[in-house]
Amino acid sequence: MSDAEKRDTVIVGAGPGGYVAAIRAAELGQSVTVIEKGNVGGVCLNVGCVPSKALINAGHRFKEAQDASTFGITTQAPSIDFSKTQEWKQKKVVDRMTSGVKMLLKKHKVDVIEGEAVLDSNTQLRVVSTGPKQFMSADDGLTIEFKNLIIATGSRPVEIPGFEFKDRVIDSTGGLNLPEIPKEFVVIGGGYVGTELACAYANLGAHVTIIEGTPSILPNFDKDMVKVVLKQMKKNGIDVITSAMAKKAEQDGKSVTVTYAVDDKESTIKADYCMVTVGRKANTDDLGLEMTDIKVGDHGLIEVDQQGRTSVPNIYAIGDIVPGPALAHKAFFEAKTAAGAISGKKTANDWLGVPAVCFADPELATVGMTQSEAKDKGIEVNTAKFPFAGNARAVSLDEPDGFVRLVTTKDENNLVGAQVVGPGASDLIAELSLAVNSGMNAEDIALTIHPHPTLSEPIQEAADVAIGFPTHI
Ligand SMILES: Cc1cc2nc3c(=O)[nH]c(=O)nc-3n(C[C@H](O)[C@H](O)[C@H](O)COP(=O)(O)OP(=O)(O)OC[C@H]3O[C@@H](n4cnc5c(N)ncnc54)[C@H](O)[C@@H]3O)c2cc1C
Repeated sequence: MSDAEKRDTVIVGAGPGGYVAAIRAAELGQSVTVIEKGNVGGVCLNVGCVPSKALINAGHRFKEAQDASTFGITTQAPSIDFSKTQEWKQKKVVDRMTSGVKMLLKKHKVDVIEGEAVLDSNTQLRVVSTGPKQFMSADDGLTIEFKNLIIATGSRPVEIPGFEFKDRVIDSTGGLNLPEIPKEFVVIGGGYVGTELACAYANLGAHVTIIEGTPSILPNFDKDMVKVVLKQMKKNGIDVITSAMAKKAEQDGKSVTVTYAVDDKESTIKADYCMVTVGRKANTDDLGLEMTDIKVGDHGLIEVDQQGRTSVPNIYAIGDIVPGPALAHKAFFEAKTAAGAISGKKTANDWLGVPAVCFADPELATVGMTQSEAKDKGIEVNTAKFPFAGNARAVSLDEPDGFVRLVTTKDENNLVGAQVVGPGASDLIAELSLAVNSGMNAEDIALTIHPHPTLSEPIQEAADVAIGFPTHI
C-alpha cells in the first residue's frame, strides 16, 4: 500500500460548498487541499444556477425584442442563432465564472487535486482516477491522511422508470445544452428547475408542455403566487398538465413520444426533446461512507449538527448532501460555518430563513415562514400584501402582475416570513431575508425610506399595510 500523505484540511468537491469552504478555511489560516472529480464550480457554475440564468436572460431578450411594439418600437422580426447563444453562455458566462473560482483558489494557495475521493476510514481517503475506476484497489491511487475533512459532493438528477437519460430524453444538464431550440419541448416535473427552463424555452420560441405529478407546479411556493406564474404561462402558450403520471418515452431518432396518464386515462405528446426534472439525489452512495462512522439519514443525506459536523468529529458535510433546501447560497453559508468551526470559531448554521427563488416569469421568491407554516408551528400571524399594480416602476416596466406579502406576528408585528412574486423578486427577497434574519418588525421596514420609483417600494408599502397605515392602496 502506498504511504499516506498527511494533509490538514481536505475538502471533497469544488462546487459552491467546497470552493467557498476552501477559500474561507485558507483565509482562516488552514492549509487546504480540494479534491474535485469534475469541473471546479460544481453543478451551480457549470450546469445549474449560472448557465440556466444565462439561457433565461437570452429568452427574455428575444421575447422583449418581439414584444417591443407595446412601447411603440418597431423592429424587424427578430431571429436567433442558438449556437451563438450557447457559445455566449459557455464562454462568456460559465467559463468566465469558473476560471474566476480557479483563480481565487490559486490566490489562496489551495491545492486542487483532480480525481475522485473515496473514504477508507475516519481519517483517510484515496484519490482515484475519474472515469472508469481503474485505481479502485487499495494499492493504487493517492492516499491522504487528513486532520479535518469537509465533504461537499453535491447531488445529481434522479432518473425515473421509462425515461432513461439518452439522446432526446434529457436531464437538466441536457436541457441547458440543447443544440437547437425545440419546436415541441416536454418537461416532466414542474419544480423550480423544470419551470425555469420551461419559461426560458417558451420565450425562445418553443411550444412547451409541463407534465407534473402533483396537483400544482412549484409545490414549494404558495398557491396564490403560482397563480400569477400560471397566468403568464398561459399567455406564453405553455401547457401545464397536473396530477399526471409520466409513463414512458419512446424515441425514433428524430423525436420522442411521451406517454402520460391523468386519472388512468393515457395520452401521448410527440416532442423534439423530453427533459426530466423530478428531483436530485445526494452524491453520498459512492463515497465509501460505509468505511467510516458517518451517520447517513433519509434520502442519503448526511446527519450533521449546527456547525455541519457529522457523527465523526473531524468530518463535516455541507451543501446538497445535508438536510435543508438544496440551494447554492445555503451551501455557501454552510461552507463558511464548517471552515470556521475547523478553525475554532463559534460559527453556526443558525439562520431564521433561507431565501428560495424561482426565476420563472414573473420571478417568485420566499424567505422564512408562510402563513400556513407559521400556523402549523402554533405562531399567530397576520399577512400584509401590496400589489405591483400599485407600483409606478412595475407599471412603467409593463410588468404589473404579482405582489409582496409580509408575514408578521400578531402581537409584535415581527417579520417571520415574506413572499414576492413579480418583477425583480429574486433581488427584492434579499432585503426581506435581512429583515427576517435580523428580527425586524413591520415598523422598522415602514420607517426605512425606499427609493422612488423602484420595485423595492412595495416592500415598504406592504409594511405600511402591516402597521395599519396603507398609502397607495
Ligand atoms: C438546472 C439547475 C439550476 C439551479 N439553479 C439554482 C439557482 O438559481 N440558485 C441556487 O441557489 N441553486 C440552484 N441550483 C442548485 C445548486 O446548483 C446546488 O444547490 C449547488 O450546486 C450545490 O452545491 P454543492 O457544493 O453542495 O454541490 P455541487 O455543486 O453538486 O458540487 C459538488 C462537486 O463535487 C464533485 N464530486 C462529487 N463526488 C466527488 C468525489 N467522490 N470526489 C471528488 N469530487 C466529487 C462534483 O464533481 C461536483 O463538482 C440549480 C441546480 C440545477 C441543476
